[in-house]
Amino acid sequence: MIRVGNIRVPLDADFSDIAGIASKKLKIPRDKIKKAVLSKKSVDARKKSDVHFIISVDIEAKNEDKLLKILKNASAVKHEKYEVKFVPIDSERPVIVGFGPAGMFAALVLAMSGARPIVLERGGDVDSRCAAVDEFRSTGRLDTENNIQFGEGGAGTFSDGKLTTGIKDRRISWILRKFVEFGAPDEILYLAKPHIGTDKLRLVVKQLRERVISLGGEVRFGARFCGFTEKNGHISVVQYKDRNGVHSIDTSNVILATGHSARDVFEMLYKKNYDLSQKNFAVGVRIEHPRKFIDKAMYGGFAGHPALKAADYKLAIHLPNGKTLYTFCMCPGGEVVAASSESGRLAVNGMSCFARDAQNSNSALLVNVDTSDLESDHPLAGMFLQRDIEEKAFRAGGSDYSAPVMTVGELLGTSDEGDSVEPSYRPGVKKAHVSEYLPGFVCDTLKLGIPEMGKKIKGFDSPSAVLTGVESRSSSPVRINRGEDLQSLSLKGLFPCGEGAGYAGGIVSAAVDGMKCAECVIDEIIGK
Ligand SMILES: Cc1cc2nc3c(=O)[nH]c(=O)nc-3n(C[C@H](O)[C@H](O)[C@H](O)COP(=O)(O)OP(=O)(O)OC[C@H]3O[C@@H](n4cnc5c(N)ncnc54)[C@H](O)[C@@H]3O)c2cc1C
Repeated sequence: MIRVGNIRVPLDADFSDIAGIASKKLKIPRDKIKKAVLSKKSVDARKKSDVHFIISVDIEAKNEDKLLKILKNASAVKHEKYEVKFVPIDSERPVIVGFGPAGMFAALVLAMSGARPIVLERGGDVDSRCAAVDEFRSTGRLDTENNIQFGEGGAGTFSDGKLTTGIKDRRISWILRKFVEFGAPDEILYLAKPHIGTDKLRLVVKQLRERVISLGGEVRFGARFCGFTEKNGHISVVQYKDRNGVHSIDTSNVILATGHSARDVFEMLYKKNYDLSQKNFAVGVRIEHPRKFIDKAMYGGFAGHPALKAADYKLAIHLPNGKTLYTFCMCPGGEVVAASSESGRLAVNGMSCFARDAQNSNSALLVNVDTSDLESDHPLAGMFLQRDIEEKAFRAGGSDYSAPVMTVGELLGTSDEGDSVEPSYRPGVKKAHVSEYLPGFVCDTLKLGIPEMGKKIKGFDSPSAVLTGVESRSSSPVRINRGEDLQSLSLKGLFPCGEGAGYAGGIVSAAVDGMKCAECVIDEIIGK
């Protein structure tokens, strides 16, 4: 097959006939094309007067060598094969702590290798988790073990399910194909900015779990990893707690994929004097605009075209105070969600369903926090700062998990007659100034940066846009240091993994890191 890229097509092109598009665009007689599939699709909205798609197609045709020579942007298609090694039957079972993207894909690879992994997940399965999250969003009653951070599928389950990533890795196409195999829409295989949406992601997570179990793996929910024992510098037993008490599992391979919110795990490792270090992270607020306003700003007169979904944006402003204000995890046609996991501490994040058709569009507005901004060189100083900010936000919101909100106009001292945007955060909101919970350098950077963003997207700094606090968990403030063999520098057999360990950021890169750790565990079991 050959891939031909950079093909321009109008928004109303008939995507049910890719061969037809290829024949017309590439001037190849239709009968010469045996097969044609879409391999890439992106929206080109650089000129608002001329919004269109740019696509790549993979075609199987007669005289491909000749076509390769005459067609522009053509190349031979290379399919990446991903193979899993098998471990000896009845080898000792590895343990995976955490069933987020990292833990899920580690479990899938280990189950495919015949290793019969045991997964410990402190939260519940996705159904009980959804019930706990709905309960919290309607009543403000937080379950600290079952929430938007903890439970089957990990932090990403209640998200927009964006699958974009900054890393390049041969495992990514396999991950996307597995997501489709487990129920995600095919389009994630070719869209330049694929997303699954929280409504579909919940089904995908379940199907992946069932596959792990069908291959001999086991997933224990409500099982909180709470300790371990070592022998001669190597892990030998893990302990976990569930409603029946504390239990132990003998194992010499543990993948620790507990995410950026497992602060009890960071504290446990710190108390054991394990090799941890501070890591840069970011804090800020979520900004919300009407979805239709963003669509218009990004697509001009094409906004609302049936072939276009809600528009996204990405902005970054480097400021004279040495700080950067940037947008992150944008959720077109989505909601601001309650992402708290600890009592008396409030955090927010964003989520969209696959349709991306909610009233507002939102994104995090973040300011980088470097280790130099921290109060001490304590490895957990970043986590302490997060906690402090979240406690202040909790109080500023009225101490009932309502979120503190203010308008951009109130922050910048600008006002207009327009209606302010209706905040989407539930269980509720309360007016409060960002200075009640954010450090001074963050407030200053918001004040300096938002008007600059308004120069890039006209109206982004509209006085009616609403700011909801606090976005404090965009990445892990701690790294659990590991060596080339991906094992902890402090304990052999322990594989710090994913976002919480400081080696990933986002669903896809966490899944890649989970696979890498699983491959290393397989080599350990095989005795490589
Ligand atoms: C609301 C929200 C929206 C997001 N949107 C996106 C998006 O659209 N696209 C994107 O790429 N990224 C998104 N992210 C980030 C993404 O979810 C994370 O980067 C990713 O989930 C990290 O994966 P992980 O497996 O390393 O950790 P996590 O997903 O955090 O999973 C860790 C798991 O470990 C479990 N655990 C923790 N402690 C213990 C313990 N002691 N014992 C047993 N189990 C434990 C937790 O319950 C959790 O299930 C979003 C995050 C949030 C919170």
